[in-house]
Amino acid sequence: MDNSAPKDSASHAGDLMLKAARVLSAHGHDDFNQGQISVRDQQSDRNRILIGRASTSFHSMRSSDIISVRVDAPAVPISCPAEFCMHAALYKSRSDVNSIVHTHSLALVAFGATDLPLESYSHEGAIFSGKIPRFIETSQTVTSTEQAERVAAALGDSDVVLLRNHGVVVVGSSIKAAVVRLIILERAVRINLAMRLLDTSMGKSSDEDDEAKRRFNFDEFAIESYWRSLVRDVSSNVVS
Ligand SMILES: [Zn+2]
Repeated sequence: MDNSAPKDSASHAGDLMLKAARVLSAHGHDDFNQGQISVRDQQSDRNRILIGRASTSFHSMRSSDIISVRVDAPAVPISCPAEFCMHAALYKSRSDVNSIVHTHSLALVAFGATDLPLESYSHEGAIFSGKIPRFIETSQTVTSTEQAERVAAALGDSDVVLLRNHGVVVVGSSIKAAVVRLIILERAVRINLAMRLLDTSMGKSSDEDDEAKRRFNFDEFAIESYWRSLVRDVSSNVVS
């Protein structure tokens, strides 16, 4: 459960979503127009979220692509992406979650197709070492409320759930926390996959080092600084 990052101001949430979308694109999370980022309206209605409309790509998202929808809406607007139900179920089950990112990144799809634990071979590995929850009921797009509720159950009180042969869902207390966590996870998984190619069990960092890294490398200030670095790299691509 994540309490490390500041809460998003609703007035800036759309701007943060555009920046986050460009960061996700720059870091390999585009899958044509698949995947979504969403954020809870923390200012006026916590049952309402902002999310990119159906078929919006991370690399080309504009403010006009962002829609506002209640997670308990009796009828989901046709402009919503099919996997809106997954976002809705997760927000309803986790009051601490204020942002959700779902992508089909190559490394995370590959790793999620296995039962491997994530080993701590790097700074990034320290934060996720151990078994990452997996949703294994289906590898298809999650389009029903019932399935979405079971994704929420698979996530539990974790910050990450891998959707087998499909993708990943990462949650956070803010857009910054969710996006930085996903970028860090992707790096950790890539290093794990590279280590599998080396066919060696050597190279893991110690439990003592991992504990220190979790405190120092991924606290509130570190997340803010990583976010600023990520956004600076894509600032010329953000168009409102
Ligand atoms: Zn998906």
